[in-house]
Amino acid sequence: MHAKPHVLVLGSNFAGLASAQRIRDYAGDAADITVIDRRDYLLYNPNIPVDIFENRDPELHERMPLRPVLVEDDIEFVQAEVQGIDVDAQVVTFLPNERPGAEQERLHYDYLIIALGARLAYERIEGFAEHGHTLSDFYHGNRLREYLHEGGYRGGPIAIGSARFHQGDGAEGLEPYPGGSIPVAEAACEGPPLEATMAMATWLKDHGQGTPDRITVFTPAEVIAEDAGLNNVRQFLELAGSMGIHYLNKTIDIRRLTAEGIEFENGETLEAELKIVLPDWVAHDFLRDLPISDSQGFIKTDLLMRNPDYPNVFAAGDAAAVTVPKIGGIGHQEADIVARQVAKELGRLDAEEADHPLRPVIFCIGDMGDGKAFYIRSNTWYGGNDEVLKVGRIPYQLKMRYRDLFFLTHGKLPDWGLGLAQFTAEKLFG
Ligand SMILES: Cc1cc2nc3c(=O)[nH]c(=O)nc-3n(C[C@H](O)[C@H](O)[C@H](O)COP(=O)(O)OP(=O)(O)OC[C@H]3O[C@@H](n4cnc5c(N)ncnc54)[C@H](O)[C@@H]3O)c2cc1C
Repeated sequence: MHAKPHVLVLGSNFAGLASAQRIRDYAGDAADITVIDRRDYLLYNPNIPVDIFENRDPELHERMPLRPVLVEDDIEFVQAEVQGIDVDAQVVTFLPNERPGAEQERLHYDYLIIALGARLAYERIEGFAEHGHTLSDFYHGNRLREYLHEGGYRGGPIAIGSARFHQGDGAEGLEPYPGGSIPVAEAACEGPPLEATMAMATWLKDHGQGTPDRITVFTPAEVIAEDAGLNNVRQFLELAGSMGIHYLNKTIDIRRLTAEGIEFENGETLEAELKIVLPDWVAHDFLRDLPISDSQGFIKTDLLMRNPDYPNVFAAGDAAAVTVPKIGGIGHQEADIVARQVAKELGRLDAEEADHPLRPVIFCIGDMGDGKAFYIRSNTWYGGNDEVLKVGRIPYQLKMRYRDLFFLTHGKLPDWGLGLAQFTAEKLFG
């Protein structure tokens, strides 16, 4: 039972943690806040690739315990598997997973924030278990790290790219910038393949394993990472091409991985000893077919991150239909919007302070090895006018220090942190 309105946040990685913390920040003591997550730590996955190439165990570097962080803001934490949402009864069912044998429980909410991310569907890629590598989690990250650094790699061709993403209809008709839209993406998140391509080229050189022309980067789409801005991508491909890296587009999808390489849905095959792939990012099964979900199970919202049919239900991060591509930076922008909306509902912010609709911006910093990185900031894909690409040592430092600052502040990066990063990358050392 809750004496105050009960805000229930599902998921506590980037979008969920930021939503819960900012609701407390904007709404003060006006609500009881509960967070449910199956893990009791935050997984800082953007830095798993750099750990792999620099031969560090990401399990030891990229996790932040959640319990001590949440207790600072008087936010209750339940470690459990969320199993269902009844949006009419305003009830969430979940199974505590601290120990096997727990009984299913139910929690009532007044406001619900869905920040459960997406499922990276490796099981949908035939041959992945036997022949594939990836860099999205601790297990696969360490498998690839050991393959590279403990003598597994035999010097053969390398293929890096994504399977096809199946976007739902939940963001149709939204206009984040005048005359713009949330376009349809054919890959969920192509920053990691771009980053892995450049870092792999450096790794080959630094380890005397060959030249970058062993690598092919591929995409199901017409243009890789087109959400990062066509001008940025053109410059990036020119740089990769000048290094000898091959580029394959319009593969449509990955049909299967074999010991010899990759078979694509467009009929082409690519010879590869090492296959580093990102899969389709799909909605969690229990979110499909809910009255708040789109045709693929992502949560429908307007640009204030509020479900149009159930106005006390919000979404942030990869679980939201408007989050395309699926990147943490957009989830962070959305968490702030959600928190302002909830604080408005609770009478702690007025409409002028709260109603700032989503204007998505792609921020991406990708490791390139040897202490260098690329920095991208763009909103042109959505109808905006900004497109910036910088390459050098400062972006690398920003990438590493951003993570340090995130852990140090328990996820509460000061607003000036991003502004300072942008200023440093683009003006001071641009
Ligand atoms: C290799 C890689 C590198 C990346 N690099 C970048 C980058 O540089 N910059 C960037 O902006 N983005 C990057 N991304 C994307 C970024 O990681 C995601 O967009 C981000 O994690 C999404 O945050 P989220 O909180 O919405 O979802 P998630 O991070 O997926 O978190 C979802 C949370 O919900 C919990 N959960 C899920 N289902 C349940 C359930 N049924 N019950 C209980 N808990 C559940 C999970 O345990 C998790 O804590 C990268 C992704 C990958 C794979």
